[in-house]
Amino acid sequence: MLSEEEYQDAIWKFNNTPSTITGKPRQHLRAIFREKIHEHELASRYPPFEPLNYKPFYINCKTTEQTLIHLIETINDSDLFTLDAESICIPKKPNEPALIQLQIIQKNLFSYVIFVEVRHLPNMHERTFILIQELFVALFNSNKNIYIWGSIDELKKFLNFNLFSSSQIYLSNNINLQDEFKIFWKQHHPHKPKVSSTNDNILCICETCLGIQPNNPWSLKNAVAYQLNQWLDKRRSRSPFDIGLDPTLVHLNSKELAYRQTMTTYAANDCLSMHHLIINMKLIEQQEPANELSTEPDYDISMYSDSSDPNDLIVLPNENFKINQSSNLNQQNNPDVEEISSNDDEPEQPYQHININNSSHNEFQYERANISNEQKRKIHNRTCTLKQRKKLYKHEIIRRGIDRRFTITLVKKILRERSINFGALNISTSSLTNRTSLYIGIKNPTLLSKYERETRNLFSTDHYNEIHSQQRRSNSNIHYSHHHHQQHK
Ligand SMILES: [Zn+2]
Repeated sequence: MLSEEEYQDAIWKFNNTPSTITGKPRQHLRAIFREKIHEHELASRYPPFEPLNYKPFYINCKTTEQTLIHLIETINDSDLFTLDAESICIPKKPNEPALIQLQIIQKNLFSYVIFVEVRHLPNMHERTFILIQELFVALFNSNKNIYIWGSIDELKKFLNFNLFSSSQIYLSNNINLQDEFKIFWKQHHPHKPKVSSTNDNILCICETCLGIQPNNPWSLKNAVAYQLNQWLDKRRSRSPFDIGLDPTLVHLNSKELAYRQTMTTYAANDCLSMHHLIINMKLIEQQEPANELSTEPDYDISMYSDSSDPNDLIVLPNENFKINQSSNLNQQNNPDVEEISSNDDEPEQPYQHININNSSHNEFQYERANISNEQKRKIHNRTCTLKQRKKLYKHEIIRRGIDRRFTITLVKKILRERSINFGALNISTSSLTNRTSLYIGIKNPTLLSKYERETRNLFSTDHYNEIHSQQRRSNSNIHYSHHHHQQHK
């Protein structure tokens, strides 16, 4: 935030640009001061953006296989994502891509934010590199809804890193939130001519009155300010995002650590504020399937323990556990509501151009209430899903103690290759025994014993190593050709 003196100085400079400066340089200079003034006004008007809880993950040469497998599983289990990317500016050269931020929004609205540090990736021959590729295979999939502030084309700058191909990025359902927001704002804020009989000083907030041209896209910062009444700090958009944000990447002193932490928060906030917007714009409800039940139900670690037969599932205790978890989540959300309420008493700033009435604050509180109803509905659905699940797993093969590096995607692939007609699939790790089990629902009970024989030797550690040594052999061939990504087709 600027000091009052700096702020007045910026206004003066904006209004008194020397007449000797003309044309493009003049426009450029005025744009810099206009932006500075605007930033200051947003920062003094609104509290800083507060994200919902999230857990950060860094993907680079230090990331373990275990972490990557966990992230792939989480992606497989989610259908809602936000994505952003950062580049670094090099004078007189095109921007260099540096970082991909991916938010995985889980069913309970908790999320992961993954930072793919493309300048610090493992060697292409490493198994972890292949897993990072697999992560993008899982992501760019027709049932994944990915929100981006702009176009997915942004990722084309990252093709040289060989993490995904140009055709892959169009396989998912990519939604340009920047375009969606423009339509949303126009629908919700048509121009309101000031009625002279009313003495309130509420100004119109239609695009034209806000000074946003019909062809101009919205900045994320403005959308967060006008829709969420929060200030998204964008002053670090020109930071060196290629330095390695992961605190474990190299040894760092406390100052260096703090700097990376600030940049990580900045990079995460782009994704997290998009998430906030899609909740606020009620886009999530539309995105979610009406019926949560599918032949491939979501799985979670608490669902089964190794010692019990899944057919003897006791539904209620699990459900109580879920309800407790989700009421905790609501409590975590509540501080946002409090913060907004206290913000209502914020003194009016004399210099502000835009007065937005407080109704949008109330709208936001209303929105919060909706989330908890939505969660209640989900909990109800989950109960139904569990009952259905009992049916889905009625005829099933259970493989205890499988190698936990097998992902659902990989298991499906292997079963399909062997023409095993499966229904529901589930992998779970017992918190007691730490053993991982695979549950394969079989639709046709007459084939159960045949399938049982055919899968007897699958999914062991030996099986996994065998697959990967094959893959390595075929990869080492692929590496010498230019069509690295053909292995995924
Ligand atoms: Zn207007």
